[in-house]
Amino acid sequence: MTTTVLDHYVGGKAWAGDSERTSPVYDPALGEVSKQVRLASAADVSQAVATAVGAFDGWANASIAARQAVMLRFRELLAARRDELAEILTAEHGKVLSDAAGEIARGLEVVELALSMPQLSKGEFSQNVSTGVDVYSVREPVGVVGIISPFNFPAMVPLWFFPLAIAAGNTVILKPSEKDPSAANWLAELMTEAGLPPGVLNVVHGDKEAVDALLTHPDVPAISFVGSTPIARYVYATGTAHDKRVQALGGAKNHMLVLPDADLDLAADAAVNAGFGSAGERCMAVSVLLAVDSIADELIERIASRMAGLRTGDGRKGCDMGPLITAAHRDKVSGYIDIAMADGARVVVDGRDGEFDGGADGFWLGPTLLDGVPLDSAAYTDEIFGPVLSVVRVPGFAEGVEIINASPYGNGTAIFTNDGGASRRFQREVTVGMIGINVPIPVPVAYHSFGGWKASLFGDAKAYGSAGYAFFTREKAVTSRWLDPSHGGINLGFPQHD
Ligand code: NAD
Repeated sequence: MTTTVLDHYVGGKAWAGDSERTSPVYDPALGEVSKQVRLASAADVSQAVATAVGAFDGWANASIAARQAVMLRFRELLAARRDELAEILTAEHGKVLSDAAGEIARGLEVVELALSMPQLSKGEFSQNVSTGVDVYSVREPVGVVGIISPFNFPAMVPLWFFPLAIAAGNTVILKPSEKDPSAANWLAELMTEAGLPPGVLNVVHGDKEAVDALLTHPDVPAISFVGSTPIARYVYATGTAHDKRVQALGGAKNHMLVLPDADLDLAADAAVNAGFGSAGERCMAVSVLLAVDSIADELIERIASRMAGLRTGDGRKGCDMGPLITAAHRDKVSGYIDIAMADGARVVVDGRDGEFDGGADGFWLGPTLLDGVPLDSAAYTDEIFGPVLSVVRVPGFAEGVEIINASPYGNGTAIFTNDGGASRRFQREVTVGMIGINVPIPVPVAYHSFGGWKASLFGDAKAYGSAGYAFFTREKAVTSRWLDPSHGGINLGFPQHD
């Protein structure tokens, strides 16, 4: 049997590059290799960057109306063909089809934000700041933007960045995860179909070699990265050392604090949805439930009874939860159940015992609930990134906030309560970038920005929203005077206003 090889997509067409290296792509519900993906060499990356540089002038100088027209057609095509993309996501990532559809819907929001580019790109003007002098500022594209994305949102994370980057007049090299790379090609082909000129959006597949080539390339002035914290830290340090602007979003350990006055059914639903959706492979997944002692037993019981009704299996079969991304990741995640047990936690629901509606060799692990996970256990301190929800019991609000703030991560957190005063204090006191009040996965809408604090985001630029637009542009401030007969002659002093 010949295996399909997924090419790069450069200059508006599939491109093999020169590297001989490839990496297997799996269908995680079957546990079978579905294709190979090319892994670019540094020389391949250089050629793609040269293509993007070549396309820059034409695109940056295209009118706002022309750029807008492409984005509008792209939005319509993506909305019409979203089911096709969802199938690609499920086949390579494993997430269930309804979850894949949700990922696309959240990506579409950013495309719609990019359509407000005429509004976003308006500059500022101050008339007569000094007699006869006007000042105005305009924002211009930065050049070739490198986007490096993780496996867990193969469509949404690229969509967080490239529509805004492109609408602002930049050209792009997208380096998606090598674990589920096909969505990136599909999106780039759709942009071509929407009328994007060749070379504006390029997809280069690869691993560390391709990433390093982007991070050190002199013609790539901006890097948007999303992935795990160690790699985000490395990308930020390396990119900035090479004079680039870098936004590097990292990993997470998200806590949900449930106070005694919360609606426990709402909290139990939320914990299950946010803990096990996408098999816990979300940077905004709730992985730690901070339950106040007085309601902890009751809450655990309600969560466990809901978990009994979850069906894990092939995402194409209407199941609630799919497989993990690779066998190695599944083994790592299930290893944390052993670690938690050895450290004294109680396994309330053991996902290793589950039955799975999918291929015998699929990368399965069922939803798992742990109680009493000690704060010094690796099962608490590490980002597990799987369907494992750990309960940590706390005496009350203050201890819950203390635990949240002691975490090195600060991506998302949530409080469940009916006490407005407590939720207001919570919102002010936690050192976390995105906060949910009776909302477990507080991913902001596209016109606000997405990003965490501390080790969940390196750099100061969040993704999308006005921060995302600012990241992809640089400002020019122009001070102008049109001569009139009253110009003032020689004055060597520092400019002052009169
Ligand atoms: P990852 O860090 O392994 O990979 C991310 C990207 O970096 C991929 O494109 C990969 O090819 C590349 N990469 C991997 N190792 C590298 C290396 N040594 N040098 C250079 N590049 C390298 O992350 P992942 O496993 O694909 O994704 C899951 C992680 O991403 C989780 O930690 C999750 O929390 C995080 N994530 C964060 C957010 C957020 O918004 N903060 C969103 C989604 C995912």
